[in-house]
Amino acid sequence: MGESRFILPPDLDFECTNCGRCCRDRWEIRVDAASAEKLLARDWGLGGVVPFKKRLPVAGVDAPATDELGYTVERKSCGSCVFLDAGNLCRVHAQLGLVEKPQVCQQFPYLFTDAPDGVTVGLSHYCPGVKRRPDAKAPPLANRQDELARLHAHALRLERVPDRVALDDGLDVAFADYVALEELLREIVLAPGRSVPDALGAAVLASAMLVEFLGTPGATPALFVAGWRRKGLDRMYEIAGRQRAAPRTGRLLLRQFLSLVDVALTPSSATGRAASGGWAFVKELIGFGSVPCAPLGERISVRAVRAVALPWDETAEPLRRYAEHVLFRRRLLPVLGVRVGLALLVLHIASMRYVARAHAARAGRDRANAEDVAAGLQLVEKHYAVHSSLVQAFATGPARSIFRRIAGKPRYALAVLGA
Ligand code: SF4
Repeated sequence: MGESRFILPPDLDFECTNCGRCCRDRWEIRVDAASAEKLLARDWGLGGVVPFKKRLPVAGVDAPATDELGYTVERKSCGSCVFLDAGNLCRVHAQLGLVEKPQVCQQFPYLFTDAPDGVTVGLSHYCPGVKRRPDAKAPPLANRQDELARLHAHALRLERVPDRVALDDGLDVAFADYVALEELLREIVLAPGRSVPDALGAAVLASAMLVEFLGTPGATPALFVAGWRRKGLDRMYEIAGRQRAAPRTGRLLLRQFLSLVDVALTPSSATGRAASGGWAFVKELIGFGSVPCAPLGERISVRAVRAVALPWDETAEPLRRYAEHVLFRRRLLPVLGVRVGLALLVLHIASMRYVARAHAARAGRDRANAEDVAAGLQLVEKHYAVHSSLVQAFATGPARSIFRRIAGKPRYALAVLGA
């Protein structure tokens, strides 16, 4: 792509608070070989610690050509980046300036997606410096175009939206048609006066109806979108609202997802991991025992989590805004396919509520508060959404086929959200 046209979130801003969270978390900080070797030539006064190590290929993710893998930044025993000093500041930034920092550090929390109509600038909600400015007259990031252009030119983990977007396996639409659908879905999710489950249920229903509609002769996505705009969306919410399933079904579907994630993140043998996922499912079924919670890094009691109240209306605004931003930043639906992407979005929202309740249970509260909800949102963003390679597991394979089946059924989406 030549000159980048940035598509900016209308009301999101970023101001680093120097909290140091992104430097202390145990994720991989990748550095290309040239940058690492330049920094290695300098004495950082780290008491003999070599600040970079050669990166090893990750099975199923990297090609085995190790030369292209570069380096990763070393960590202290407490987990912090070796360059983080006692004052919570980055030594590389302090001594050499922002542009010498590893690219991934400079880029955080921006998430770029290249699409046929421009570069979408998303923001990771893991970062507490990302804030909503509801009264913004213009996109708050509009005055950072030069910085964004520099970061985008060297961006790691870029997503790319193809010219034709998959609605479902074996069914794709032109990008312009996807954009019209995306606008409709964002409108459905943001509609005032609708609960988050009803809004997301209606979005899943709309995608399922579109797939069905395209099976009739002469049908086009444009006709579908125009038809619903004429009719109004009330009927869509009404049909979605009738698709109820038992909360128990939702809990078990959510547990399947959480176990898939936990199993993938647990460092043990494949057989041991599968057995642990199976046991977690049984415990959820009988409502007894403890299960691993990867985002909290500990086991939690199934019963204690269930006992925590978290009324939807108290979480509606952050979760609705988050869902809309996920649609905006285009890293799920147009990349994985609309149906699977929407199913994952629903699962992420349900997981946020689950982690918020687990967070409250751990603190001994029987009702989740705003701090628990914020923790749920940040931890799911990190472990399940944008900072995890788990999304790739949904690109192909058994996880994709399981969640593709869920995706087509709004009642399952509603059940998961009601879990
Ligand atoms: S997590 Fe966000 S606010 Fe905190 S140091 Fe990192 S970029 Fe800054």
